[in-house]
Amino acid sequence: MKITAINTHIVGEGRNFFFVTVETDAGITGVGEGGISWREDAMAGFVHALTPSLIGQNPMRTEHLWQLMLRCGFFPGGRIGAAAISAIDIALWDIKGKALGVPCYELLGGLVRDRVVCYPHVPDDNFAAMAEDSVRHVEAGWKFIRFNLPSEGDRLEPRRAVRQGVELVSTLRDAVGPEIELIIDVHTRLDPSDAVTLCRELEPLRPFFVEDPVRCENPAAIGRLRQHTAVPIAMGEQWATKWEFREALENDWFDFARIDLCNVGGFTETQKIIGWCETHYIPIALHNPLGPVSTAACLHVDLATSNFAVQECARIPGVVLADLFPVQVPFENGFMLPPDKPGLGIEFDESALSRYPRVEGDCPRLSRDDGSFTNW
Ligand SMILES: [Mg+2]
Repeated sequence: MKITAINTHIVGEGRNFFFVTVETDAGITGVGEGGISWREDAMAGFVHALTPSLIGQNPMRTEHLWQLMLRCGFFPGGRIGAAAISAIDIALWDIKGKALGVPCYELLGGLVRDRVVCYPHVPDDNFAAMAEDSVRHVEAGWKFIRFNLPSEGDRLEPRRAVRQGVELVSTLRDAVGPEIELIIDVHTRLDPSDAVTLCRELEPLRPFFVEDPVRCENPAAIGRLRQHTAVPIAMGEQWATKWEFREALENDWFDFARIDLCNVGGFTETQKIIGWCETHYIPIALHNPLGPVSTAACLHVDLATSNFAVQECARIPGVVLADLFPVQVPFENGFMLPPDKPGLGIEFDESALSRYPRVEGDCPRLSRDDGSFTNW
């Protein structure tokens, strides 16, 4: 079997999604997804740069092709490159599963669980509305809820945000009771000193984890926070390849690994990081704010991974892009279930692409009271 074509697809539905299809001379097509949102053209450019090196190659050689893609340009590709490699690697694993007639989870070690517990996003709103929304999710079967550190519209002043964040977690804890797990995503909006205050004040409210309390560029900042709080910390969604996980992992600076299959380097790289996490007793909570391919890829990893905690599920499978992906993975009452079809277990219908023109725009922006830029 040989790779004959690689195509990129930028799909607009409220935001943009970036999909890659890899075609073969056996008539099998695989689909992948890349995750550097709002930089779809850059990912597409990187895929196009890699394509001549991949045409004619055997798609089953996923490890060899991963090394080739990362290293063939001499200069490592950074995050855009890793996202492009991720999309291609996921498509190659889809092809591998289809060629062998088994779901991807069989290739990753087989089922270690019957179902995968997920968490939804509770959107920003006033706290009473968020409490009502959380209770609705719990009544629908979800065991976890996740929400953001509050901002005031497009304004984020860190010390006020910390106070409001504690108030929000307290409000939601009162609303859902002690059994439901709470996740607050700080979204890299705080510096370490404010993150320490937030995490220490949250300890009595028992969040399942605090996500991305600090920025990702200097992993030692998480180590500094780690020294001052016992609250569990989740990090990793912005890191590309095992190399960016290395320092924080080896130092036990975080408690849950937020690996993003569509940014880190696909199935091939995720498997390596998960094994490394296991030696540190760190469970995975895979980052999944994306589309049906990312969701399916995460599900296959979760089903075959022992050191697993919970799966982010920002979009319920089957609800988003339902005609572009007429077959998506099974979901029931806050849990995803094992797909029974080969490969990723989803279907991509290119004939629906014209219904989803790309969305123009960029990432939302936040600023401080004085007008200065701060992370969204
Ligand atoms: Mg996040």
